[in-house]
Amino acid sequence: MDLFGSSGVRGVANETLTPELAMRVARAAGTVWNTDRAAVARDTRTTGGMLADSVASGLAATGADVDCLGVVSTPAAQFHAERAGVPLVIVTASHNPREYNGIKLVGDDGVELPVEALERVEATVDDGGATAASWDAVGQTRQVEGVGRDYVAEVVAAVDRERIADADLTVALDPGHGAGSLTSPDLFRELGCRVVTVNAQPDGHFPGREPEPVPENLGDLGRLVRATDADLGVAHDGDADRAIFYDETGAPIPGDATLAALARADLEPGDTTVSAVNVSQRLVDVASEAGAELVLTPIGSTRIAGRIQELRAAGERVPVAGEGNGGVFFPSYRVARDGAYTAARFLELVADRPASEVVEPVSGYHNVRLNLSGDEPERERMLDAVADLAERERDRSGADLTTIDGYRLDYGDAWVLARPSGTEPLVRVYAEAGDQDRARELAERVRDAALEARDG
Ligand code: MG
Repeated sequence: MDLFGSSGVRGVANETLTPELAMRVARAAGTVWNTDRAAVARDTRTTGGMLADSVASGLAATGADVDCLGVVSTPAAQFHAERAGVPLVIVTASHNPREYNGIKLVGDDGVELPVEALERVEATVDDGGATAASWDAVGQTRQVEGVGRDYVAEVVAAVDRERIADADLTVALDPGHGAGSLTSPDLFRELGCRVVTVNAQPDGHFPGREPEPVPENLGDLGRLVRATDADLGVAHDGDADRAIFYDETGAPIPGDATLAALARADLEPGDTTVSAVNVSQRLVDVASEAGAELVLTPIGSTRIAGRIQELRAAGERVPVAGEGNGGVFFPSYRVARDGAYTAARFLELVADRPASEVVEPVSGYHNVRLNLSGDEPERERMLDAVADLAERERDRSGADLTTIDGYRLDYGDAWVLARPSGTEPLVRVYAEAGDQDRARELAERVRDAALEARDG
């Protein structure tokens, strides 16, 4: 798929992602869905209104009436799709910088479209075979108000409100001027928390920080936690399907630790959990201790959502899944990442003990990341060399080799992964272990083999 990457269509608005392209994608989606009603939502980006109008026109051209949801978080929009039984186009670039925008497609079950469906939409964009409804059959658009309010009520009803409220917690919230600004403050208040905020006015100029919730962008949140003596700091990305936490001392909690702590609370023997090939040793260990199976997919939430659906269809229980970037799935709630719901579930744990103690059992791991640059033939040579090394290592040490997205070796106590970057001319090498030297040694062995092949 050239048009749809691992997280939908993405690009700089009005350069790569133009209103014309948005309309073509919407017309193709409306054609594939063959539906008489669809919805469109967007995040707070300055280019969101322009692109959402284009999407609404494109859908209406295929004969679909269009629910225009306005600015709502991605999970709130997915809530509407499932509740109303309508497919959905979301205009969002998630965590990307201000100038970007994107398009994400969601089915009438509230779940993002699987790869096969995206391929059909992409083929329709390419061959220009979109439906053109006749003059008396084009769709009408209507504004739908109150989606965010109804969504908050749904989340409150889906978690243990009493347990959270009884703990008298203070939440410091940084929705980063994104769509979560409109729902997360109310959610935490309705859960009985005292709420203090920073960067919480919706603003597509993102004056306070960039949309990506990484520690470099979250200095304000750490200071707010300390200044207000908060029990938990919560940050979202631009469309609020992710949540990153700060503990009660104002220190960032790695997203891998959040996922592992949530999994530790939910996994039971015989369960399955799903993550991507860069999964942390923390989740590997939690799954193994719980007697649960860990299934890996290529990197990207679309792949994880698809695998969850397959496993559940086959009768597996998948209580929790996701990636270490703050994007967590609780499939019995919805097969969708949801930053607010994830934060509420984490607050259930923080109700019993401080956040630092919640993640203490999944702490003490060391990561190494190396980037190896090269042109395309050099990257190919590097990956071929890594493939040879990985097979030798598997045969020599009995490590598990996973080759669905790059090459990952699991040694039981540690792992190493080499894969081509999806966005830059790099081969990335990751390693993780309880011991820093062990992680470094694994990463450097792979790096040395790759560089020898690159440099001849
Ligand atoms: Mg996002």
